[in-house]
Amino acid sequence: MKKAIPTLILGTVITIGAQAAPKDFNYNVERFADIEVLRYEVPGFDNLSLRQKTMVYYLAEAAHMGRDIIWDQHGKHNLQLRQLLEAIYLNYDGDKTSADYLAFETYLKQVWFGNGIHHHYSTEKFVPAFSQDFFVAQVNALPQAQLPLLDGQSKAQMMDVLVPVIFDPTVMAKGVNQDAEDVITSSANNLYEGVTQAEVEAYFAGIKDPNDKTPISFGLNSKLVKRDGKVVEEHYHLNGLYGEAIAKIIYWLTMAKDVAENDAQRNYITTLIDYYTTGDLRKFDEYSIAWTQDLDSEVDFVNGFIESYGDPLGMTGAWESYVNFKNVEASHRTQLISDNAQWFEDRSPVDARFRKPVVKGVSAKVITAATLGGDAFPATAIGINLPNANWIRAEHGSKSVTIENITEAYAMASKGNGFNEEFVIDEKTRQHMEKYLYITDMLHTDLHECLGHGSGQLLPGVDPDAMKEHGSTLEETRADLYALYFLADPKLVELGILDNPEAYKAEYYKFIMNGLMTQLNRIEPGKNVEEAHMRDRQLIAKWILEHGKKSKAVELVKRKGKTYVKINNYEKVRELVGQLLSEVQRIKSEGDYEACCKLVNDYAVKVDPALHEEVLRRYATLDMAPYRGFVNPRYIPTYDEKGNIIDVKVDYTEGYAEQMLRLSRDYSPLTK
Ligand code: ZN
Repeated sequence: MKKAIPTLILGTVITIGAQAAPKDFNYNVERFADIEVLRYEVPGFDNLSLRQKTMVYYLAEAAHMGRDIIWDQHGKHNLQLRQLLEAIYLNYDGDKTSADYLAFETYLKQVWFGNGIHHHYSTEKFVPAFSQDFFVAQVNALPQAQLPLLDGQSKAQMMDVLVPVIFDPTVMAKGVNQDAEDVITSSANNLYEGVTQAEVEAYFAGIKDPNDKTPISFGLNSKLVKRDGKVVEEHYHLNGLYGEAIAKIIYWLTMAKDVAENDAQRNYITTLIDYYTTGDLRKFDEYSIAWTQDLDSEVDFVNGFIESYGDPLGMTGAWESYVNFKNVEASHRTQLISDNAQWFEDRSPVDARFRKPVVKGVSAKVITAATLGGDAFPATAIGINLPNANWIRAEHGSKSVTIENITEAYAMASKGNGFNEEFVIDEKTRQHMEKYLYITDMLHTDLHECLGHGSGQLLPGVDPDAMKEHGSTLEETRADLYALYFLADPKLVELGILDNPEAYKAEYYKFIMNGLMTQLNRIEPGKNVEEAHMRDRQLIAKWILEHGKKSKAVELVKRKGKTYVKINNYEKVRELVGQLLSEVQRIKSEGDYEACCKLVNDYAVKVDPALHEEVLRRYATLDMAPYRGFVNPRYIPTYDEKGNIIDVKVDYTEGYAEQMLRLSRDYSPLTK
């Protein structure tokens, strides 16, 4: 599962403080449409051993080799269209300031960013602002050899297919359609072909064994199609669908295996290669279990068909890769927290019956991303928790990671965007946030993940699913409150994690401002709050506002017609956090569904339309792109005369178009 994908401003981090070293690093690459492309730094790469650097390089190559797969998964014409658009882009020698050309260039950049013709987040088809005549003229200007024709296809036939794909808004209108009579036939992605939703459901119902306690992840690595009237699965593996790309991935994984850090890692890379070779999902489970148990290797990676958000039925995995290494220093922080899990639990402000007598801290690590690939590129998450198979998570646990250098890049690139000046009440609060928000925000995430979710216990006989549709909202609320409560505990200063007992105020201010106001920016006018994390934040902020009214701990005030959060008494706010935590834990522990519904309905869902409108209006005045993503750094090996790698250098100079064109040229096994 992906964590807290930052879509608009990184929902949380809005500025950066003195805790992070000031950097002479250029995070900003370019802006177009609703996108901002950034680059991220890979601090610590130079301190890796040569063997580790070599491993990162091999794994990065494997990550690039799967790029074509995600393009094809997103839509069956994407690869051919990309080739055609890039050929035009490289051949064009007309007026580069003309409206048509500029619109064409923007469109190509959007298509690169979406790994296809649909927006990466909304999955709506991009709307070209250049004319069809311009496009046709450019295709006609291409030498015949540069036309990406399929076997036996003429130019006219290609254009009959691709012109509507670009220009007709009714053709392949939405990549993933969750809101239709038939979510399969109305989605333009390429995970199913010629089958209806009913046929897909019948097919999987027919092969699933409801009594299997350790089921494979059905459909994870296959396309479901109809052949001669029969529904069949075409699996992704070496001799099946995407075989040419998988062969290259296997090649680089084999290289990586030879420089693995230990036998355990070497063994599960071998299992992963077996899985890619055969397509056998039992092998994938075997690999996932061994990978989950490897907590020793510093260099780590994900490479495969993983997240299923791109499938309206949530089965087929989108191909992705993350190459990373452990941020040892920052992981020390999560280690300290997890080592002290019992100390915190014993002091949790909830009824003693609801505390856990023996806590096992979840070991989470902080990582440095080294390469993003497939569905994790260019847009990416700031944290991941894998594997996804429920029975593996229950029996063998999962790995939870925070990607700190990505979070840092978002924060650094946000500096000076005017957000704090617009929404934070005064200079004093801004300065405190400038100094402490970065560290307290990370710490809040650590406490939420390592301790919050694992804290507390149910009374005997209480159904864990008693909160039904509000289950995830209440659970996220509980974890956030636990984190907020202990963020203000002097223990963190004692442990050496914070250097100022008042640091927590930065996160408190941001949390309440976000929950009451700024997160409304992600909501369309007229809509209510739906997503579980957003409901959780509003629930907490509104409850505290209301219960802090009498003491004036928190207020909403107007200054020159604008609304601001004003916190008069942070100690009181912490007390309220403790009270609400105690109540939320009681609801969960006792299974009090009615009280849960009341809490959610009273605080979490409804939006004040006037305040909503004001927030949207104020956001619109800021110079902020709604969506952001990254270019990858390049890893450049040097060799001795015998062909052995003697060093790997990391290079940050590549631009966006340059990188996309290089990847298409050097890493496109499915289009050659
Ligand atoms: Zn959570």
